[in-house]
Amino acid sequence: MSTETIITHAGAFVDGQEHANGGDPLPITDPGTGRTFAEVPGGTEVDIAVAVGAAARAFSDWSALAVSKRGEILGRAARHTEQHLDELIPLLTREQGKTLRDARIELNKAIDTLLHYVGLSKALRGVHTPNLDPGVDGIVLRRPLGVVAAIVPWNFPTTLLCNKLAPALVAGNTVVAKPAATTPLTTLRFAELLAEGGLPPGVFNVVTGSGAVTGRALVTHPQIRKVAFTGSTPVGEQIMALAARGTKRVTLELGGSDPMIICDDADLGAAASAASMGRFYNCGQACLAIKRVYVFESVADDIIEQITAKAKRLRVGRGDVKGSQMGPLHTAAQRDEVAGQVHRTLAMGGRLTAGGGPVEDPELVDGFFYAPTVVVDPPHDAPMATEEVFGPALPIWRVKDLDEAIECANASQFGLGSSVWTRDLHRARQAAERIEAGYTWINSPTKVYDELPFGGWKSSGYGKEHGQEALDYYTETKSVVFGSGS
Ligand code: NDP
Repeated sequence: MSTETIITHAGAFVDGQEHANGGDPLPITDPGTGRTFAEVPGGTEVDIAVAVGAAARAFSDWSALAVSKRGEILGRAARHTEQHLDELIPLLTREQGKTLRDARIELNKAIDTLLHYVGLSKALRGVHTPNLDPGVDGIVLRRPLGVVAAIVPWNFPTTLLCNKLAPALVAGNTVVAKPAATTPLTTLRFAELLAEGGLPPGVFNVVTGSGAVTGRALVTHPQIRKVAFTGSTPVGEQIMALAARGTKRVTLELGGSDPMIICDDADLGAAASAASMGRFYNCGQACLAIKRVYVFESVADDIIEQITAKAKRLRVGRGDVKGSQMGPLHTAAQRDEVAGQVHRTLAMGGRLTAGGGPVEDPELVDGFFYAPTVVVDPPHDAPMATEEVFGPALPIWRVKDLDEAIECANASQFGLGSSVWTRDLHRARQAAERIEAGYTWINSPTKVYDELPFGGWKSSGYGKEHGQEALDYYTETKSVVFGSGS
């Protein structure tokens, strides 16, 4: 792997300006070429203390503003950032690997989420309970928590950030974010742009660094009141344990292995498209992604053929090359992990109908590419069934009926998303009620809406993001009783 350092950054954005981290340099690699193109120093405990201190100082003024004023300021900052999408999109593609099209979708969604909560800032209303006793009324006050830590992975650096940032800021908190060590650049520029757009100094700070050093220092800092985390289940569990000291609030958006059930009465063409989009979008690196398909026996051959054909047709290429539909995996380790899961699965059984190895294009050998892969009927205890597969590999099983499909769907430690395709209202309702997951889409691609709360069941997490409900996770309530005495 050759090294050509082009970009350097001080590593943090604190109190409205660049801040020079004191830790070791972290290489930033273009997943499409395997070449390091930037170097950013990681944050130490001292850097975290500086950032948390700035956020704590900013808190009193920010939380004292009218909620609609906070919305107005955030809205202006978001619109300013939106003016710079053409600069952010190639940067995100370069450090993450995703196609320019996927980067544009991600960044537009990030801005949409900010603006969604800006809109809610004018609509928030509270609770008043009259006549608790004669002449006695109750109200429920809502107060921000203080300084919130946002820990974000590399698969969607900006949307997963904004899912936390938007409700946190509108509710009156201030934020210190730690992006993944391999994708800090877009987040740092995003923070600069929000500040240029008028977000006051200290309200939103970013410190780059590794999870083990910078992330840990942030989570354990005594002034952090809440940790909002997206990432793997094992790290989420560690964070929950670390947050126990100080009784910090946590929300955890963790791994998933979303089942998709295709019944014999489904619109098969639409279901196959949703499966392909749901599995191969962002090169399969999404928490909410279709990771297991259960299809009724009588239509299984048709579905397998359609999904296999779509997988084979996908144009795999560097994210910055026009026409690429699927980019590389984010790191060599991530590619090897997925390849290992497919390999171990096929060693146990199942039939490979697409992919199963590297992409056969000499131009792509240095990048972290893996061909879109479909495996049919592997054993139900194979890695592709029991583990989260964070890449472009999809297992498909034949099932006899809805009961078997739901039983298989629920036989997982995860419970993030799920989907069902049927024209039968009774089946749709059965699936929606019985599948153990935070989301069930019926005859719909697995698109996340800001309007609806989203969060995992079981080992997929704790708490909700999106929806008005997200605000509950960034506020404390206090009950106040107005008595009748003078
Ligand atoms: P991690 O869960 O390790 O990382 C997510 C974030 O947490 C990163 O910013 C990471 O920092 C940080 N972090 C790691 N350890 C700590 C810690 N002890 N304290 C505080 N912060 C910490 O995910 P990975 O990137 O390692 O991916 C591993 C696997 O997780 C993937 O293969 C995939 O299966 C799954 N995953 C699932 C996601 C989802 O949304 N469901 C998202 C990402 C990954 P840093 O990266 O700098 O070490």
